[in-house]
Amino acid sequence: MRIGIGNDIHRLIEGRPLILGGVEIPYSKGEEAHSDGDVLVHAIIDAILGACAKGDIGRLFPPSDERYKDADSLQLLKQAVEYTGAKIINIDSSITLEEPKLSPYISAMRERIAEVLSIDIDRVSIKAKTNEGLDETGKGNAVSAIAVVLVEN
Ligand code: MG
Repeated sequence: MRIGIGNDIHRLIEGRPLILGGVEIPYSKGEEAHSDGDVLVHAIIDAILGACAKGDIGRLFPPSDERYKDADSLQLLKQAVEYTGAKIINIDSSITLEEPKLSPYISAMRERIAEVLSIDIDRVSIKAKTNEGLDETGKGNAVSAIAVVLVEN
C-alpha cells in the first residue's frame, strides 16, 4: 500500500468552460489552461504519480506538448494509471471554489472518475468548499483542488 498527495490551482477567466471531475459546469468563467484545466483530475493524477514516486503531471504531460492542448484530463488520468500500473484503493479530494455551488454536480464527477478508473463510486470522495472570500480563490479568480490517493503498487 502506498499513499500520495496532489494539488492544483488554475486561474478562472471568461470564455473558457468550467470543467471539474470531467463534468462541464455552467458558469461565466472557466479554467485558464493548456489542457481542459480540470484542477480536480490534475490533483488526482499528481496524487497517483506521487504514491508511485513517478514524478508529476508536468513531467508526464508537458504543457509545451501540443498533443495536450485542450486535452480531456480524464484521458490523462487513464494514461497516468496505465503508466504507473497502480491499483487505486480509494481517493479523497476537496475542491475550493467561491462559486457556483458544486453540490448538484458532485455525484456526476464521482461517477465519471470511478468509471475511468474502473472502481466503485464509493471509493471516490469529492468534497467542495469556498475560500470564505479570502485570497484570489475567494475573490472568484481561481479554483483549486487537493487529493489523497491510496494505491496498491
Ligand atoms: Mg493543472
